[in-house]
Amino acid sequence: MKRTTGQDRAATRKWRAATRAVRGGTWRSEQGETSEALFLTSGYSYDDAGTAAARFAGDDDGMTYSRLQNPTVQMLEERIALMEGAEACRTQASGMAAMTTALLCQLSPGDHMVSARAAFGSCRWLADNLLPRFGIETTIVDARENAAWEAAIQPNTKVFFFETPANPTMDIADLEFICGLAKAHGITTVVDNALTTPALQRPIEWGADVVAHSATKMMEGQGRVNAGAVCGSEAFINDVLLPFQRNTGPILAPFNAWIVLKGLETLDLRVSRQSANALKVGQFLETRVPVILHPWLESHPRQDLAKKQMDDCGPLFSVVLDGGREQAHTLLDALELIDISNNFGDARSLMCHPASTTHHNMGPEGREAAGVSEGMLRINVGLEDPDDVIEDLDQALSRAGL
Ligand SMILES: *Cc1c(COP(=O)(O)O)cnc(C)c1O
Repeated sequence: MKRTTGQDRAATRKWRAATRAVRGGTWRSEQGETSEALFLTSGYSYDDAGTAAARFAGDDDGMTYSRLQNPTVQMLEERIALMEGAEACRTQASGMAAMTTALLCQLSPGDHMVSARAAFGSCRWLADNLLPRFGIETTIVDARENAAWEAAIQPNTKVFFFETPANPTMDIADLEFICGLAKAHGITTVVDNALTTPALQRPIEWGADVVAHSATKMMEGQGRVNAGAVCGSEAFINDVLLPFQRNTGPILAPFNAWIVLKGLETLDLRVSRQSANALKVGQFLETRVPVILHPWLESHPRQDLAKKQMDDCGPLFSVVLDGGREQAHTLLDALELIDISNNFGDARSLMCHPASTTHHNMGPEGREAAGVSEGMLRINVGLEDPDDVIEDLDQALSRAGL
């Protein structure tokens, strides 16, 4: 296997973002294939016993077993690290495998974590249920309040964990402030960057230590496979994350890694078109719904901060209707083009009611505290012509009495 362009990795670090997304991390076999090869193998054979021993001793960096290394998976890991501006990356089977690995690999009983009230439902479950079971204390704060992060710090605080924008409330957290505060207190920040991808926001540039992803969403881009990734310094990935990952095995399958590699080739194009479509659809909806939570619209309370941290708005935003669950479900049931689906990042426009789906498990009180109201609808604007999406919303809004 050899690298295609720039044998030295430093050269690939000079590439601009779109080039990194298309070519980063590519290796070629002796066949010279242009598209990345898919290595469906769990094991590797060795020329002689001495080579096997050298590989296990770490004196030879060849592959040993696909729970530990796989060429297709490594291509993806190098590409994502390059795109995030991180020293290293390891991928996992799903976004939640990535979040769980990023947290459990570094937290122990007696440690304390501060995390954000508005978050993907399963991320809240980790903070509310899993970590406390293992003696890890957690405090939930409103991520939009800088002072709340500071007030939550304890002598045993090890990790800050949050996403921005948050799913589905579109809360924007101040990356530079929170990461700076963490650094001053020796706390590790873990930022879930699933909503934006490195094409729109690179938390490491604002001082984040660890960036975790659901690559299932915008990075994959066409709703086919689940995947996750964790990026950080070489010291964090090699010394903290890898011992946990290699021995517990939440690894990404080579086929799924290959699908995400192909998805990344078009990421730059997709995010810019889907962001433009999401802005157009948002501008239409703004005239018809009582509340819209869209980081690129004036009505968003942290529009300036969003524009500072993000290169564009991405495909996702939410609206809130006055008529609660009933009106929200009526609108969904009236859709003819847009699918009712809780996924996002897909090329198809998708819409869901978070309170009865992704955030159902939090219960009514948990949802209220997290800002997920009964009248909230979340939309992923896809790659269809935005005028067709607007026409569909127009007729569905009318049927819901709006
Ligand atoms: C979807 C999502 C996850 C979980 O990712 P999976 O690939 O579904 O496991 C985590 N965080 C955020 C912000 C997400 O949107």
